[in-house]
Amino acid sequence: MRLLITGGAGFIGSHLCDMLMEKGHEVICIDNFATGTPQNLLQLEGRPGFSLVRQDVTEHLDVEGPLDYVLHFASPASPVDYMNLPIQTLKVGALGTHKALGVAKAKGARFLLASTSEVYGDPEVNPQPEGYWGHVNPIGPRSVYDEAKRFAEALTMAYHRIHGIDTRISRIFNTYGPRMRLKDGRVIPNFIMQALSQQPISVFGDGSQTRSFSYISDMVAGIYALMGADYHLPVNLGNPQEMTVLELARRVRDLTGSSSSIVFRPLPQDDPQRRKPDIGRARELLGWEPKVGLEEGLTKTIAWFRTVMT
Ligand code: UDP
Repeated sequence: MRLLITGGAGFIGSHLCDMLMEKGHEVICIDNFATGTPQNLLQLEGRPGFSLVRQDVTEHLDVEGPLDYVLHFASPASPVDYMNLPIQTLKVGALGTHKALGVAKAKGARFLLASTSEVYGDPEVNPQPEGYWGHVNPIGPRSVYDEAKRFAEALTMAYHRIHGIDTRISRIFNTYGPRMRLKDGRVIPNFIMQALSQQPISVFGDGSQTRSFSYISDMVAGIYALMGADYHLPVNLGNPQEMTVLELARRVRDLTGSSSSIVFRPLPQDDPQRRKPDIGRARELLGWEPKVGLEEGLTKTIAWFRTVMT
């Protein structure tokens, strides 16, 4: 296949590029490097069939030649980033999705949207199945991401229904692994960086809020499986192993052998209290489920952070 991936220099995007190249596809990656970096793609530089273009996906996209697939992964995804880049986040979710869908339509290509568990907001049901409509504050600080992704899902479904585009929607839950930036701001890179530098580990609120973390290799495998499925409604992808943020802080401290203290900081506004994917649909439809447990995934991620911090 010949594929276009937006946001291909980001955390998930760059791992997808690696996997797609490994499988022998041709990959055109576009990224404006707002939160991604060409460093994430150095290993693919100069490889036949790979190209990286610096471009903002909210502007007109001109891609030469045929395309079989468009993967729309461009967006800030860390709460710290999308609160620092609120208008860019809204633009890439809305205008960027429109442009990416327009390319898929013009080329007769299939399309996959990277959506998010944030469409469920601060959920009133746990775990969250795809049929849950969510509990989102439309004007809160997280709304710039949540509503942009909800709009992106709506636009994707409209292009499917009206233009007959062959679309997929992946709802990606918390994912971690190598290539997250040291200053990403999300909980796992923060905790690992703090633990490795013997700084206090910053738990927001009382740490009783929960998350469920998927290792990057499982996520990329799930996305690839969904690309090949003939299914147009959203599919949750994530690891259902749920834990509190305080438990996570202790696990990271133990696995790093750190003597960091754990300190409590104010809980950011609208921080979801619980999050756990119901992955029944992905299991049934894709025969997929996560394989990497938290200890194994954290151990690999910590090893990678050690190499970049030295
Ligand atoms: N969090 C924390 N300390 C940090 C960063 C995040 O306690 O240094 C908490 C945050 O309040 C949230 C959870 O960890 O409850 C996950 O946050 P993250 O930013 O990774 O992503 P989210 O799941 O909220 O999108």
